[in-house]
Amino acid sequence: MSVLVVDGALAEGLRSSPCLVPVARPSRTWRGGSAMADAIVDVLEGARPRGVVLARAPRADTDTDAAILPQLARVMALEVVRLPDDVGLCRWLVALAAVMCQADCPDLTRRLQTLAGVEAAGLPRRPWGWDGASVPALRPRVLARWAWHAWKPCAACPGGGHEAAPCARCGRRR
Ligand SMILES: [Zn+2]
Repeated sequence: MSVLVVDGALAEGLRSSPCLVPVARPSRTWRGGSAMADAIVDVLEGARPRGVVLARAPRADTDTDAAILPQLARVMALEVVRLPDDVGLCRWLVALAAVMCQADCPDLTRRLQTLAGVEAAGLPRRPWGWDGASVPALRPRVLARWAWHAWKPCAACPGGGHEAAPCARCGRRR
């Protein structure tokens, strides 16, 4: 079983899962350093080698603490899946990813790369969560299968995703 590392803010209120490793926000920063970076390195070290990091694109995140998670993950050779801008949709994706991970879904990274572009996929939608995020109205098992079929490789990196969305690994527009 792999593990999914996410910024703690995206896992708030979600059911806990042995697959989900939220990076908790430290309460203080020590003089001259970042306690958040320390916490992230600790978590990423524990998640190697098969862990997958789910992180919002830095442009969508004005929160610098959250933005260093994908940067450090790449340096530590962990796969990063770029989540969409919409926070509600991100939280739904994290919950779905945890379910897929716990079911030991094969090719998890590839499926998550497709799902990260789900906004552009034109699937039927339904409201989800307390803020009524607009998410696909398909069951997790069906979505996982769809995501495998809908994955297209990226021309610039070994990643990919849905053809109507930017690459979920490097962000390249198609
Ligand atoms: Zn790419």
